[in-house]
Amino acid sequence: MSNTMYIVRSLDETISQRVESSGAVTSILKCALETGLVDGVVAIKSKNGDRFSGIPVLITKPEDLLETTGSLHCSIPNIARFVKEYLAGGFTQKLAVVGKPCDIRSIIELQKRKQIEIDNLYLIGLNCTGTIKPAIARRIFRDEFNVDSNDVVREDIDGDKLTIYLKNGKSKSLNLLKLEKKGLGRRDNCRRCEIKIPTFADIACGKWGTESEETPSTFIEICSEKGKILVERAIEKKYIKVEKPTRESILLRDETDKIWTDRATEQRAIDFNPIMEMSYSDRLAYWVKEFEKCIKCYGCRDACPICYCETCLLEANRDFLEAGVIPPSSLFPLTRLAHVGDSCVNCGQCQDACPMELPLTKLFTLLNSRLSEVFDYKSGVDLDQGPPLNTANVQELSIDDVFLDVSTLTKRIKK
Ligand code: SF4
Ligand code: SF4
Ligand code: SF4
Repeated sequence: MSNTMYIVRSLDETISQRVESSGAVTSILKCALETGLVDGVVAIKSKNGDRFSGIPVLITKPEDLLETTGSLHCSIPNIARFVKEYLAGGFTQKLAVVGKPCDIRSIIELQKRKQIEIDNLYLIGLNCTGTIKPAIARRIFRDEFNVDSNDVVREDIDGDKLTIYLKNGKSKSLNLLKLEKKGLGRRDNCRRCEIKIPTFADIACGKWGTESEETPSTFIEICSEKGKILVERAIEKKYIKVEKPTRESILLRDETDKIWTDRATEQRAIDFNPIMEMSYSDRLAYWVKEFEKCIKCYGCRDACPICYCETCLLEANRDFLEAGVIPPSSLFPLTRLAHVGDSCVNCGQCQDACPMELPLTKLFTLLNSRLSEVFDYKSGVDLDQGPPLNTANVQELSIDDVFLDVSTLTKRIKK
């Protein structure tokens, strides 16, 4: 049966007056907090009003939700890691978590590794066209738009356009794809991101499909029982009003999604084909040359939402890596690749953290896409699909001739 879809508007006057979008998501969150459905809301807020420093926050007072409204396209917060590291993985409280598709996918992969208690989480997914690294965004605003980045109060990515809204009430637009041809624009991983509508969250929310509406509204797809509870409670308690989308509205949303997904598929071909056309030895040489830039700062490991081992094999002198050797052995990136490659959700956090600008997402996403083909697996979208390199299915376990001897490895770990 297909999911229920609604065009949603806020009925909360404070929210409608203060929020430029429809305020539907904020109203649903407010209802969840005020009626005790959740103990807190995890959302993004700009740090001291700086749009380039969006940080994840835990909101427990409904009035504070207004600080988290609006999109921050030039911040790259690590929501899944925040929930896992700082909120005890949701094991101790019920939370509504608002995130982009890659954030929600990270949470789903962490649940498979028992690092998150997803039953306590209400996942509110937002459609996403991509994010821009803060330093690149400042450059675009200064050199391409000729404005002071501190004067930008909002930005939007729509169709081919990047639009900025200024303090003086004016707006300016530039062609995003042209900017990207110049090496500016969205992050590399966002350009390759093929999942734009997070239908694996409890609700998937966005403006696509609402363009013809007279007043701002949000298109919401209810994707689970928890999602149904969230939305129905907000309707019943009069926080939101809903109507069924027209057929045109649904088609428009699907078409917009397809345009962005096709672009990402094209970008993958541009980035990956030259590597896949190399011989194995040239390919290895290509990556080893990149690995030689590594200064073993551990930024990629620490930023990756999927990395979770408490005792990391990659710490110096744990057999794998000698202390004080830079660049580290290629085992450093290759071990991380083996550990998380099957679950990589293309979030880009590793590459953003890398001071040496290694093209880490190219490597991880390329491997992940190959594994997805081999194992018919898509990371972060289905809780019932175990990570293929960490899970043996019934058929695999029944193969008589396969014997996996892990005794030598466990001895090394225990040392
Ligand atoms: S990878 Fe980029 S485009 Fe994809 S969901 Fe994450 S932020 Fe959005
Ligand atoms: S390897 Fe990089 S892109 Fe993949 S999940 Fe980890 S941080 Fe995200
Ligand atoms: S972030 Fe970059 S430099 Fe640091 S350990 Fe990872 S690959 Fe090496």
